[in-house]
Amino acid sequence: MGFTINTRHRLEQDGRAVERIASPAAHTGGTFGQTPHILIMHFTYGASARSSASWFQDPDNRSKSSAHVVVDRDGAVIQCVDFDTAANHAGQSSWGGLTSFNNKSFGIELANWGYLKPGPGGSWTSYTNVPIASPFLAAHKNGNPYRPSDAPIGWEPYSPEQMATAVAIARALAAKYGVDTILGHDDIARGRKWDPGPAFDMARFRNQVLGDRAIDGPNTLTVRSPTGLNLRQGAGTEFAMIEQLADGTQVAPIEQRGNWLFVNVLDEEGVAQKSGWVHGAFLA
Ligand SMILES: [Zn+2]
Repeated sequence: MGFTINTRHRLEQDGRAVERIASPAAHTGGTFGQTPHILIMHFTYGASARSSASWFQDPDNRSKSSAHVVVDRDGAVIQCVDFDTAANHAGQSSWGGLTSFNNKSFGIELANWGYLKPGPGGSWTSYTNVPIASPFLAAHKNGNPYRPSDAPIGWEPYSPEQMATAVAIARALAAKYGVDTILGHDDIARGRKWDPGPAFDMARFRNQVLGDRAIDGPNTLTVRSPTGLNLRQGAGTEFAMIEQLADGTQVAPIEQRGNWLFVNVLDEEGVAQKSGWVHGAFLA
């Protein structure tokens, strides 16, 4: 699938601009001060890419939300905000010592109903009562949006067509702007947002987009440093320290850059609690 980004910061598929339903300027943060290298993945919690793109234009949309592109369940894509402009997709957000991700990241929305409601006989529906035949059953890594907080609940799966388009767009963003960090909305707005959620295979997505800079599988490494290991905001000692990880801390590597690894820091149950960069020499 041939996605590229043209000089007007618009997405093209096979050399032709994709459909555009522009979000109004009032729903954006204006031109980026600095080109972002971070991509945030979302689900829309909605019926279609078109309905979400329309919502981004709606005067009743009080939060003035928007995103750069929305990918539909069949893989079709609509661009709403040009890639040189900050979209209102992140809201209040923090991660790795950074805040306010609207002006630090690109946002891709995937049309998806997100977390589902339990119905009779083990069935699951969207909050609008659309039945989802084969939901993905899992608990959210940050705790579910509703009780029970730690038991598996239903989530709408993402289709292969939708994922293929998302991967291709993310690759185009990496090629054009040097995107090297991919996070979920649920990573930067923990406890407030649940997208893209457990049905989105983030490790696989990162691997497909970032190639050999990403690391396969859920392998776990252990911090081996009696004096602790610095978790940093970037791949180098020049980046600010987030915190010091104690000897014995378990981490799951996601991406590699030189000697540095981007890792999820795991709690005693193996649940990711935070992310950042560490020097790989102190992991075993
Ligand atoms: Zn979101």
